[in-house]
Amino acid sequence: MEMSRAIRGRFAPSPSGRLHLGNMASSLLAWLDARSLGGEIIFRLEDLDPERSYMDCARLMAEDLRWLGLDWDSGWPEDDGFAQGGRTALYRGAFEELGRRGLLYRCWCSRAERLAASAPHPGEEQPGSCKCRRLSGAELAAREAGKRPPAYKCAVPDETVTIIDGHLGEYVQNLAREGGDFIVRRSDGVFAYQLAASVDDMLMGVTRVVRAEDLLSSAPRQRWLIETLGGAAPEYAHAPLLAAADGRKLSKRDGSLHMGELRKIYTPEQLTGRLAFLCGLLDRPEAIPPRELIPLFDWGRVPRGVIDIGAAF
Ligand code: GLU
Repeated sequence: MEMSRAIRGRFAPSPSGRLHLGNMASSLLAWLDARSLGGEIIFRLEDLDPERSYMDCARLMAEDLRWLGLDWDSGWPEDDGFAQGGRTALYRGAFEELGRRGLLYRCWCSRAERLAASAPHPGEEQPGSCKCRRLSGAELAAREAGKRPPAYKCAVPDETVTIIDGHLGEYVQNLAREGGDFIVRRSDGVFAYQLAASVDDMLMGVTRVVRAEDLLSSAPRQRWLIETLGGAAPEYAHAPLLAAADGRKLSKRDGSLHMGELRKIYTPEQLTGRLAFLCGLLDRPEAIPPRELIPLFDWGRVPRGVIDIGAAF
């Protein structure tokens, strides 16, 4: 009989900018999901990309979560072992294992590569295998003779994976046709988000992945990767994205409504109340600490689709 695993959720921010309102909503839901199940939560710092990771942002992220009243049981910054920048040897081990299984090929296409160490945003992915998977001997020799080192891609099988998302329900994806082969190591040797996040969710014993809905399409390949590496995949629940009144998704990159501004305007309880109201957990945006939301939490109350923040901000 399979032993049931301890419930463990995670915060997994990339320190590329200050946390914004949408990140806070997903973090609150991740915390409530784990805590309402009596589970633990870890803080993993996704500082894979040396060019897009800022340690002052990382510290502020941890502080912003604590300011709101969200705590974690283990993780960064107390334990550096939870920062991806120092876990390269573990990613290399998984990478070599995929290589031994014949699942990797070298890729010289540069377009998607730069972003591969970050979680993908909609429109940044191009499904389908690239031509590098089927190069002739002469084409391969020409590329090997060039100066540019290759990135490595994982060849996915023509297999359909079904995710039962804790919030959105059934999500079906054909790995080859809809997800496509994905980069696991950039040409500069930096391991990619898809590999690192999967390896870490597996090795850190994560059982509940709660994050924003723009990563739903990554869940099938992450589950496949974890199971291919012999691990047990977590359950996934994707949180709604927040959008400003003009319909634009909030983004760390454009600095909209980030915690630096929000902390000047609201107390932690006021901000929690507004987030909980937008997420369907309160009837009014009244001030409340996160711990008082634990008994009220239910994914069934959280709206599906994009939430307009206009009702509360
Ligand atoms: N590090 C990613 C981000 O901040 C999240 C990755 C994940 O939750 O799988 O967008």
